[in-house]
Amino acid sequence: MRPPITFTGNPLDRADAVRSDPARLAALWVRGGRLLQMEGLEPSLASGALVWSEVAAPEGEAVFLGLDEAGIGHFAPVPSPDQASTAPPSFNLWQALNGMDDGEIAIYGAARALVGWHARHRFCARCGAGTVLAKGGWQRDCEACGAQHFPRTDPVVIMSVEHEGRLLLGRQPRFPPHRYSALAGFIEPGESIEEAVAREIYEEAGVKVRDVRYVASQPWPFPSSLMIAAHAFADDPALTVDHSELEDARWFTREEVVEAMTARDRGEDGVAFSAPSRTAVAWHLLADWLED
Ligand SMILES: [Zn+2]
Repeated sequence: MRPPITFTGNPLDRADAVRSDPARLAALWVRGGRLLQMEGLEPSLASGALVWSEVAAPEGEAVFLGLDEAGIGHFAPVPSPDQASTAPPSFNLWQALNGMDDGEIAIYGAARALVGWHARHRFCARCGAGTVLAKGGWQRDCEACGAQHFPRTDPVVIMSVEHEGRLLLGRQPRFPPHRYSALAGFIEPGESIEEAVAREIYEEAGVKVRDVRYVASQPWPFPSSLMIAAHAFADDPALTVDHSELEDARWFTREEVVEAMTARDRGEDGVAFSAPSRTAVAWHLLADWLED
């Protein structure tokens, strides 16, 4: 059975109506509100589970994550700017997430993306004055110029490309040895998903594609991306790899992809290449292609 996409399935009700009601928000703290225990952006864990504490009111800024089934408010603390790194997740964090419940990973991912944004956006981008948390943390307001600022989600396209039964995968220099994965890149202002897919593949591999199809999406809180997975077809397999972006790109046969994915299930590297981790939406793209 296909595992859920990591960082989806947050069980909390985001309760938008509560966010804009300061009295209801304040009442949630009194009625057993829970504050997520974090070290900067890292989760504090006990037996592989998130740790929540009951506090009457937070000491610093806190964001409202949502309500559980009992109507209890769940919050997360905004760290200091020096604790809000945008560096990729550590190996230790991945090890910890691997043992966690899917719903808890999703709660943590939402909390990390949101509190990290607050920590890095304390000043107004329009006038430079300090801003204050508003709407339970789903907005920051500038009292000097009246601007409102909203938490960012940066869309990224990630795509598998097919040509006559083979799949195009690439390697970034930062990847683990032998790892190949789907090509990816940020969507630019003024682009549709389909246009971004076509541009990125052409820029990175010199391949023109057609029939771009949406497959799935994944929130990726490092620091605030939304991965949009797509599949596309190429008529001409000739590659011109942009080595400023990719170490390598090549076509893999269905048999090679099957072998690499089967090896990944055993926690091993494949023969032709090492398949992406199951926590990445790229894994789902490859699994989707094999199922078709
Ligand atoms: Zn301002």
